[in-house]
Amino acid sequence: MNQVLLIGAGGVGSVVAHKCAMLPEVFGGITLASRTLAKCEAIAAQVKQRTGRDIATAQVDADDVRQTAALIRRTGAKLLINVALPYQDLALMDACLEAGCDYLDTANYEPKEVAKFEYGWQWAYQDRFVRAGLSALLGSGFDPGVTNVFTAWALKHQFDEIHTLDIIDVNGGDHGKAFATNFNPEINIREVTAACRHYEGGAFVETAAMSRHQAFTCPDGVGSYEIYRMYHEELESLVKHLPSLRRAQFWMSFSPNYLKHLEVLQNVGMTRIDPVEFQGVKIVPLQFLKAVLPDPGELGKSTTGRTCIGNVLTGLKDGVPKAVYIYNICDHQACFAEVGSQAISYTTGVPAMLGAKQLLAGAWRKPGVWNMEQHDPDSFMADLQVHGLPWRCLELTPAQAASFQVA
Ligand code: NDP
Repeated sequence: MNQVLLIGAGGVGSVVAHKCAMLPEVFGGITLASRTLAKCEAIAAQVKQRTGRDIATAQVDADDVRQTAALIRRTGAKLLINVALPYQDLALMDACLEAGCDYLDTANYEPKEVAKFEYGWQWAYQDRFVRAGLSALLGSGFDPGVTNVFTAWALKHQFDEIHTLDIIDVNGGDHGKAFATNFNPEINIREVTAACRHYEGGAFVETAAMSRHQAFTCPDGVGSYEIYRMYHEELESLVKHLPSLRRAQFWMSFSPNYLKHLEVLQNVGMTRIDPVEFQGVKIVPLQFLKAVLPDPGELGKSTTGRTCIGNVLTGLKDGVPKAVYIYNICDHQACFAEVGSQAISYTTGVPAMLGAKQLLAGAWRKPGVWNMEQHDPDSFMADLQVHGLPWRCLELTPAQAASFQVA
């Protein structure tokens, strides 16, 4: 029986726990562990109510390698699914090496003190995972995650070579709050306030955050949204693993209301990550802000509308230029009805479960540290269709593809 250890009992952790529990033939035993035991217990109760399955719970400080390694040994876990925060990635990879367990996450490592993320820190574990005969799967969420697999699938089935990639993440949902982020506020705000980087002409080019934007009309009546170019971690691995890429960009939709609040919060210093003295104690303004903002895990009930996330790809097939758009549309209320979460947690948690399924089945189990696009995409793409994230691939006209050609 496959034992898995899930670390992190937030919005995403809840979805992973539910979706794993729905597949007892793959996930024979599940332990959900996090810093706050009460959150694990609350999720376990919901899982029992919705699926009838019992999952074990435990308290753990994921920054403490020995504690996690002991928990891995105690549970007999074959795989650790990390849906805590990017700060914990390296400590959890160390714990997996110490206790002999495979590893999966949904976001690349980021040090707490510097708002900077890159794969270098985790790719540096390659030799150690190979020597230990263990597999690490990096970035198995939606973006990164499904967007990487969409690209690998397009290269396998639609193109001989891919020249441009535009990943477009639209959240057409409304949570009814004045301001809220749809995943961990600290990580979200660090990401969107960072300088933009996109890949062009063989190098990453830096531009001011949010300085380039355009309208994008989603298919299937989701609507038109203003999308903003920003840096996102899958660009780093995709340009490395697809050397034919000439340009790669990432775009995300933001409402005028979100941007207005964010600008004010930045201007008054509330997004700072350096400690400030307040009434004799040191506090980090962004961590304080997280404490007063709505918990993304609690937004499911009030959120309506749909997300639409996908890739516009251009390149050559049989010497002829070609463009496609591969995308998924996900309904916030349908996610809430199924697992009690909004669609951002859902679109991250389902691919985490599916990546884990690939590892446990052995299909993606290869000693070393891997990004999603390095594995064969077919069975993962088939699983998306039946486990809650159906996708479509549309052929685009040259005019549609050209709207992303302007540098
Ligand atoms: P939340 O803040 O809701 O949940 C994080 C959980 O991790 C909390 O339960 C928290 O515990 C726990 N945690 C934090 N530090 C520790 C620690 N030291 N030891 C043990 N547990 C800890 O975040 P989300 O669920 O919104 O996001 C989870 C992850 O998913 C993040 O890494 C995020 O970047 C990633 N993500 C990836 C996406 C993708 O598409 N690839 C999209 C969205 C998110 P406590 O409750 O005590 O604070």
